[in-house]
Amino acid sequence: NVSTPSNFIKNIVNEDLKSGKVSQIVTRFPPEPNGYLHIGHAKSICLNFELADEFKGRTNLRFDDTNPVKEDTEYVESIKADVAWLGFEWDGLFFASDYFEEMYQRALVLIRKGLAFVDDQTADEIRETRGTLTQPGTNSPHRDRSVEENLALFERMRAGEFKDGERVLRAKIDMSSPNINFRDPVIYRVLHAHHHNTGDTWCIYPMYAFAHPLEDAIEGVTHSICTLEFEDQRPFYDWVIRECEMPNVPRQYEFARLNLTNTVMSKRKLKQLVDEKAVDGWDDPRMPTISGLRRRGYTPESIRNFAREIGVARSYSVVDAKMLDHFIREDLKLKALRTMGVLNPLKVIITNYPEDGVEMLEADNNSENPEMGNRMIPFSREIYIEQDDFMENPPAKYFRLFPGNEVRLKNAYFIKCNDFVKDADGNVIELHCTYDVETKSGSGFTGRKVKGTIHWVDAKSAVPAEFRLYEPLILDDEEGEEGASFLENLNPNSLQIVQGFVEDNMKSAAPHDKFQFFRHGYFNVDPKYTTPDHLVFNLIVSLKSSFVV
Ligand code: ATP
Ligand code: MG
Ligand code: MG
Repeated sequence: NVSTPSNFIKNIVNEDLKSGKVSQIVTRFPPEPNGYLHIGHAKSICLNFELADEFKGRTNLRFDDTNPVKEDTEYVESIKADVAWLGFEWDGLFFASDYFEEMYQRALVLIRKGLAFVDDQTADEIRETRGTLTQPGTNSPHRDRSVEENLALFERMRAGEFKDGERVLRAKIDMSSPNINFRDPVIYRVLHAHHHNTGDTWCIYPMYAFAHPLEDAIEGVTHSICTLEFEDQRPFYDWVIRECEMPNVPRQYEFARLNLTNTVMSKRKLKQLVDEKAVDGWDDPRMPTISGLRRRGYTPESIRNFAREIGVARSYSVVDAKMLDHFIREDLKLKALRTMGVLNPLKVIITNYPEDGVEMLEADNNSENPEMGNRMIPFSREIYIEQDDFMENPPAKYFRLFPGNEVRLKNAYFIKCNDFVKDADGNVIELHCTYDVETKSGSGFTGRKVKGTIHWVDAKSAVPAEFRLYEPLILDDEEGEEGASFLENLNPNSLQIVQGFVEDNMKSAAPHDKFQFFRHGYFNVDPKYTTPDHLVFNLIVSLKSSFVV
């Protein structure tokens, strides 16, 4: 167990354990199964699970599935897979919908105490009579119904006698409270909808603000951690626990949600991208979803280290997405095989190399980690290099190939460009070079120096491969309130597909294997489009790093 940096929630837990207020902490991660998890959820997952791990407590995975309309078992399964992939084991797996009967009974407790009433007003009327920050609300004409009448009406709501929206159950608190959440909030509504877990058993559903504290209390959660938007809800959270006479008393603590540059982080918007086919599903490698990050090639370690580094605070901030890149580079640096891949190939003929000659050259698997050993790669008369590594008329300080210039081929020989061939359109399609046998890599040759080192693959044995290069999906952070403009603000270059070649030893590469292609960056074998005879690599992150943590 890695100890997390100190933060205000840890301090609270420490105090609560020291003072004996709690003997063991219980946290929970409570997603609504209405979409796939994103990197913001990962922050919450790490916070809740690592806190409990560190203090020998427990963490539940609880599906907050009290809204039947948007929820689906596909999401339930994806959430379980994502939490497990991040490396966490939940102690209890629960569904809020399993507590519907208990929640109903707790609502009866409120009614019997005169603390809840059935209202016949419409949703609009309720909204209009709520008042504002500066003006008190007005009481519903149905507020003074007797306990008996409320009990009977609530039972009829449950029995399905009312249509959607015809009746609600409201807490009876104070229509002039300065906290608007106390102005007789709705706690149950009529909704004739099929629920993914409870089917058609219920046609009334509890509202989030009423359900959530009960869920926490039922499970014996001690520290209920949520994002800052819920701060104003805390007094009502405590009211529900107290007035419903819950034996366990959880406490709510709020922290600032994670925001990332160039990233939309709302399930609603992410779903819009999926539904409008702007991306290749929830696991599109450009998506900030955990499944997208996984397919792109991010590792659980990189995400956990990122979450730890950004920490937990109560102030709003936007984290630079480059920071996540930093952590994946750090994680892969010593683990990923370093190999050569040519993305935009240009054929090179080494005219003084024997026609049918082929030799095996030794190459490091990871120059920073000798434990990864070496491999043998074939070299022969025809190779591929990058189109970008040749210029007919180079500018000053261009040290790669041009007519008359000599470069080092990584792991092989010096080659010198003598001639080139163009097609009818004037594109260079082939280079003619000579190699110098004296300059073989590893031979200790010091006769002369060259300024450029380029990568290559042997043409005869190379394996064709597709490379998918990514840029941020979102151009900038000017998100429209209603999400209309964010779809118009997509980066047209967010995906670029390039065909090329990789070394022959990559034939055995399997989905999710990760490599560093020399001079290009880190790549992941795409699990969706790779087949036994078609390798697809996702660019995880380039090598350039300007970010220092
Ligand atoms: P979204 O707004 O993206 O739909 P949500 O809060 O509605 O997110 P939930 O399924 O309710 O999604 O979230 C489960 C937990 O994850 C909640 O406790 C919530 O506070 C936390 N969470 C969601 N988004 C973030 C974020 N950006 N940063 C930190 N925690 C988050
Ligand atoms: Mg939510
Ligand atoms: Mg939401």
